[in-house]
Amino acid sequence: MLGITALLLLLTGCSDGGTSAGPTRVAVAPPPSSSAAPSSTVPPTTTAPPPTTPAAPPPVVVLDPGHNGGNAAHPAEVNAPVPDGAGGTKPCNTTGTATYAGYPEHAFTWDVALRTRDLLTAAGVQVVLSRQDDAGVGPCVDARGALGGQVGAAAFVGIHGDGAAAGRRGFHVITSSLDPAGAEVAAASNGLAVHLRDALTAVEPVSDYIGTDGLDRRGDLAGLNLSAVPAVYVECGNMRNATDSAWMSSPDGRQAVAERLAAGVLAFLGR
Ligand code: ZN
Repeated sequence: MLGITALLLLLTGCSDGGTSAGPTRVAVAPPPSSSAAPSSTVPPTTTAPPPTTPAAPPPVVVLDPGHNGGNAAHPAEVNAPVPDGAGGTKPCNTTGTATYAGYPEHAFTWDVALRTRDLLTAAGVQVVLSRQDDAGVGPCVDARGALGGQVGAAAFVGIHGDGAAAGRRGFHVITSSLDPAGAEVAAASNGLAVHLRDALTAVEPVSDYIGTDGLDRRGDLAGLNLSAVPAVYVECGNMRNATDSAWMSSPDGRQAVAERLAAGVLAFLGR
């Protein structure tokens, strides 16, 4: 049992090396007053502030600019097989296509991704890019596909330019035909695709060579098959077509398509 001296030492706290200036005084509470009003007649006064709801974190969106500027110089890494999400394998990545004038797809997708990122960021969306520049190798398609789930994304948007026959043009939006993450995510992917299709039709016709009304479903794209979150690839236009390649090679054209991509994503997010 603690004596009075020990109790006072505890109350005065740290005392290493100090010299006390006087006796320690301990405040003693007064006894309860018998004149206090009975609590039953005094309603409690609410003094606590109203509860506040913490601000919701911004939604996260992954933008995946297709291919990479260093891929062509690193065939061994780029051709290494990785899981395709359909029970097989496919190359880690590819070089992508280019316009006949030599403007490469990887540069197009990188520039459009940066423009779209800036627009979404300004609208309060947290954007994660699947690559950090246009001079590296990869990442492999399986890593791209896993990224949305890893960062808790509300949506994953792969950005590409197609390399189809020169006489064909238009954009299309692709979803996985395997519905890899279940019916709910598949439905959300289709909703994302429709929002993007509806937005893009303001600046580019739907494809005249693949899909239906600008929408297509495929089972061979690892980036979609391996996504745990709503995911699409957008083939923004045909880089081998003279009309499409003209706007795809133009900063104004890329800004216009980025504005439509951002609008489609924001519509999907309900913002
Ligand atoms: Zn591509």
